[in-house]
Amino acid sequence: TDFSTLGLSGPLVARIANEGYEKPTPIQEKAIPLVLEGRDLMGLAQTGTGKTAAFGLPIIDMLLANSGKPTPKSVKTLILAPTRELVNQIAENLRIFARKTPLRVSIVVGGASINRQQQQLAGGTDILVATPGRLLDLLDRRALYLDKVRYLVLDEADQMLDLGFIHDLKKIASLVPDDRQTMLFSATMPKSIADLSHRFLSNPERVEV
Ligand code: AMP
Repeated sequence: TDFSTLGLSGPLVARIANEGYEKPTPIQEKAIPLVLEGRDLMGLAQTGTGKTAAFGLPIIDMLLANSGKPTPKSVKTLILAPTRELVNQIAENLRIFARKTPLRVSIVVGGASINRQQQQLAGGTDILVATPGRLLDLLDRRALYLDKVRYLVLDEADQMLDLGFIHDLKKIASLVPDDRQTMLFSATMPKSIADLSHRFLSNPERVEV
């Protein structure tokens, strides 16, 4: 299998081949076609399995196919992750995939200037990678709106629950449209994650590696 047989566009396949991505990992092979079909996804996978590309590549392709600049303070894709380190890592990967495209990838994390993040969101963004707490602070300031979100990703969802983000996640989920595509990734599948997936996902396909 190579990336082009999974349904990704030629230019994106060429772009990642340049970065040394020749063959998809198992999670990528399973998840990419489903995400491109528009399915919700419950992914059981650890870090290091290539899960960032598993959701990132199809989302980038879908964003490129439905181009159009984001409107001010809007977000087309929201990716939530538990820690600053993970947010930075995800954004770094997505920026590599989106190089030479007009797509904007923005970051929102605690411990950095909130005013600067507010300025960066003013023009709208295609992909926002965020920790839940700082995102809520910016929503309180009306620095952005989530009513244009089409793709929602919860990465390392078990970690987010362990860190006590459940209320934040519920609040954020109440602000994104019901008519969206949602992908949830978790390394473990306790009952709390099953509950979360019932709440946030619609008829999800389960993918395990
Ligand atoms: P992740 O699990 O998303 O954090 O990815 C782990 C590492 O594997 C990252 O450094 C990726 O750039 C790399 N990677 C992911 N998928 C592939 C692939 N199909 N081929 C080569 N490297 C990959």
